[in-house]
Amino acid sequence: MIQYRRHREEVLTYSRMLSADGYFGPASGTGGNVSMRVEAEGGDLIVITPSGKVYAELSAADICVARFDGSIIEGNPAPSIETGMHLAVYRNRPDVNAVIHTHQPYASIFALINQPIPPLFDEVTAKIGPVVEIIPHALSGSVELAENVASRLKNGCNCYIIQNHGALAVGLTLQAAYKHSGLLEKTAQAYYQALSTGKEVTVLPDYIVCLLTEQLKSEQQNEIARKMQLSISGKL
Ligand code: 13P
Ligand code: ZN
Repeated sequence: MIQYRRHREEVLTYSRMLSADGYFGPASGTGGNVSMRVEAEGGDLIVITPSGKVYAELSAADICVARFDGSIIEGNPAPSIETGMHLAVYRNRPDVNAVIHTHQPYASIFALINQPIPPLFDEVTAKIGPVVEIIPHALSGSVELAENVASRLKNGCNCYIIQNHGALAVGLTLQAAYKHSGLLEKTAQAYYQALSTGKEVTVLPDYIVCLLTEQLKSEQQNEIARKMQLSISGKL
């Protein structure tokens, strides 16, 4: 019997969907990784995709389980080289329970021109927040990259671009993080194509952005309060 089967199957399901979407490169591509936070009695755990494996060939048993100190509970093959980056997100964003890192095509354009994506569409801003910021480049899998990611998370947004690398989408659930990565791609495509016309691109006004992001902020605060309550009552 494999441990944490439900979480591992969920990570596998969404990884396959992202792979089918072309967010990890071609069908044989392995660029990207997916994880979930698991609330466990002895401390939170992370369930994360293995390193360098073709998603179509993975089974739930190949998905790795690690502690927050990085030590591996189950992982053969080895976990993603970006495990430290995922852990940096969970440590710094208690509202986040799922992390998706992709090399998705249109968001990757902004990883090369180093231009943040402003608030452009109501339904996107309501879910991912007011801006998609650029995280400075560092070598894939490095401690420095995890530190660079940690340094940008305080804006409370749900999507980021990693300079000369790819994208990061986070969420309360894996379903939400998946939705956010799709919204990021839609916005990146439209913004790129709008910029290419050379015409002025309009941005949502500040007061609309404030209205749109109220619910997002309150969902995040509720999740943080829930975790604090669990930790006070000794359930975590
Ligand atoms: P892994 O295959 O180790 O998850 O690495 C892929 C990647 O995207 C590195 O940034
Ligand atoms: Zn990557």
